[in-house]
Parts: sequence; structure tokens; C-alpha cells
Amino acid sequence: MTELSGRSLTVAYVTALVLVALMSLASHLTLHQVLDQHQGAASVLNISGRQRMLSQRIAGLAGQWSTGDASARAALRASIDQFALSHARLRQGDAELQLPPASTPQLQALYFGGEHSLDAQVGEFIAKARAVEEMAWNDPAMPAALAPIYAAAREPLLGRLDAVVREHERTSREQLQLLQRIQNVSLLVVLLTLLAEAFGIFRPMVRRIAGYTKRLVAIASTDPLTGALNRRSFTDRALAELARARRYERPVSLLMIDADRFKAVNDTYGHAGGDAVLRALAGHLTATLRPSDVFGRFGGEEFAVLLPETGLVSAEIVAERICAELAALPVQSNGQEIRFTVSIGIAEFESEATDIKATLDRADAALYQAKARGRNRVVTDRALPSGDAPHFLHDAPLQPSTAAA
Ligand code: GH3
Ligand code: MG
Ligand code: MG
Repeated sequence: MTELSGRSLTVAYVTALVLVALMSLASHLTLHQVLDQHQGAASVLNISGRQRMLSQRIAGLAGQWSTGDASARAALRASIDQFALSHARLRQGDAELQLPPASTPQLQALYFGGEHSLDAQVGEFIAKARAVEEMAWNDPAMPAALAPIYAAAREPLLGRLDAVVREHERTSREQLQLLQRIQNVSLLVVLLTLLAEAFGIFRPMVRRIAGYTKRLVAIASTDPLTGALNRRSFTDRALAELARARRYERPVSLLMIDADRFKAVNDTYGHAGGDAVLRALAGHLTATLRPSDVFGRFGGEEFAVLLPETGLVSAEIVAERICAELAALPVQSNGQEIRFTVSIGIAEFESEATDIKATLDRADAALYQAKARGRNRVVTDRALPSGDAPHFLHDAPLQPSTAAA
């Protein structure tokens, strides 16, 4: 997964997003269809119900007209017109009313199949009702004209209208089930795509970014030759240690370590030989110091060590050990063995110190003394003693270490 190129990750990511977008669109369209379907079924039910009512009303009004009720005649005409119009709409569908047309074979058969089809029955019913409406109320042929209207309104017409409603309901239910299935499937696909994205794209992407970040932080905070902290991150770590030490009133010391006559090492063994010495020096310190100690390269052949929980006396013991161990450390380069020594200056932080500058200067001064006194030795700064340092030492700022002398 880590081998995935940025380009292929992007392509996979965009593809997955497009897939999710398409699925969401499909889901949306399906939902739209479902709603239309519901609306259509509701309209059919509504209009079919009204047709049943109108057929009863037409029969009733025709009867009233036959008794000479003139007001019934206009109502009869209006009802017939309404009935005819609604029938046409049910038959062909009506987009405005969201009425679906009679499109299934079953509906086609109900509407148009044979002489008892709904279409034929309705046509006949309308024709007969119109004939009654156009007749004079006292026409002797009136009772004979009314009889088939009553008969149709009672049974066959109602039965057919009910059958149409039932058929519409059935088709609608089937289509709804199908749409629901489509919607479930598209939801599942969306979820699976998201899951695949999470595991196949986001996780490796986050891992890669985390890896890059880790590498960048390492590059930015360490010295590439020796792997020691660089000056800036050494300072950051040192300040954090100082803050902690101040809070708990603990001692902290600083060692400045400088390789002796390093120019000569370079001159004798070449730059590669000098580099090998620097690596060996840093490697040895990294391996032997405590994990809580802070070790950094300050530049050239100069290193610093911050020793938490360590007063001047203990720091001196550590420095003496380092000095002796490095002097005894053979370094191999180009088939040659290089020996080298270091000088170390030590200073302890004041209990109120909030930055490392002053202590650095004192450790540097001590280091300078170590060089002046012949190198390969440790010099402790006693000018600014820890609380328990003997008072008389204030007059003698820099004391050479007896062990290294
Ligand atoms: P002293 O004992 O007084 O410290 O003498 P010195 O020669 O060690 O000190 P000086 O500061 O005169 O020279 C330091 C040399 O370290 C000069 C420089 O070329 C060399 N140096 C600095 N950085 C590197 C490095 O990364 N690799 C190598 N091989 N040499 C380096
Ligand atoms: Mg040097
Ligand atoms: Mg130097």
C-alpha cells in the first residue's frame, strides 16, 4: 500500500467519490420515482372513488329529472361531463394530475378488453345518461331509458371501477417494492464504497502522511551526519527539561564537548576520516548516555549534553567517563585506525535559569580552559556554583579536573 503513487491514490479517490456521487444520485432519483408512484396511486384512488360516486349521482339525478325537477337537469349534465372527463383522464393518464395511464396489460384488458370492458360500459352509460338528459321529463319512453342507467349504476359499472382501482394498487405495490429494492441496493453500494475508501484510500493516505511527517520532523530536528539532535531541537528539549527542573527544584548540568585538534584529524585522514570520528563520537554518546539525557551537535566538531537530575559533582563524573572512553575508542576509516580525544567544559544551571544562554557561555569558557590546559580533559565551571558549592571556589572560577589533568 505504501507503494501507491500519489497519482494512483488521487485517481482511486476521485473514482470512489464519483461512485458515491452516482449512487447518491441514483438513490435520489429512485426516491423521486417512489414519491411519484405514491402520488399517482393516490390520484387514481381518488378519481376512481369519485367516478363511483358520480355514477350513483348521475342515476339519482336522472331519476329526479324524470319527476320534472328542472334543477336536476343542469346538475345531471354537469355530472355527466365530469364523469366523461375523468374517465378520459383515467384511461390516458394526466401528467398534471400525476395520473399514470392504463399502461399494464391487466389495466388494458380491464379498460379495453371485450364488450364488457370498462371503456365500453362507461361509453354506454354516458350515452344513455345523455339521452335521458336530452329527453323531455314526461316523455313516455323515459322509464325504459332510465332502467339500464339504474342497472349499470347498481352493479357492473361499480364492479369494473373497483377492479381498476385494485389493479392500480397492485401495480403500484409491485413497482414500489422494486424501487425499494433498488434503493436498498444503491444504499448498500454507497456504504461499501465508503468502507472501501476508508480502508483502501484514507488509511494508506493517512499512514503515508504520518510517515512523511515523522520523516520531516526527524530531518528537521537531527543532524544528518551523526544522527544527534541539531542545535535548535537540542535547545527546545533543553528548555523543556529546564522548566521541569525549575518546577521540581532539581539540578541540571550542561557539558560542552569539542574534539581536540580536529583539523589535524581531517588533514591526516581526510574528510571521510573526520566524519567517521564524528559519527563514532556521537554513536558512543548516544549508546552510553541515559535516555533522559539530551545530546546534540552544536556545529563542526562540537557537541552538547544536558544532564537532568545531575549536579556539578555527578556531571563531572559523567564527563570524566566520556573523556576516557572516547580517548580509548578506536575509529576505523579507509583501513586505518584513528584515535582522538575530546575536551569537555561543564556548567550547572542556576535554579532560576529560564534559558540556556548564560550556562552555555560558562560551559564554553570552561571548555576553553580545558583546551588551554592541554586538551583531553574536563574543566568544571565553579564560578556560579549550585547551592552546596564551597564558598571559597567563587574566587577561583575555573578548576581543572584532577582526574583528567
Ligand atoms: P581544537 O583542539 O582547538 O578544537 O582544534 P580543532 O582543530 O579541533 O578546532 P578548529 O575549530 O580549529 O577546527 C575544527 C575543524 O573541524 C575545522 C573543520 O574543517 C572541521 N569540521 C567541522 N565540521 C566537520 C565535519 O562535519 N566533518 C569533518 N570531517 N570535519 C569538520
Ligand atoms: Mg576542536
Ligand atoms: Mg571547535
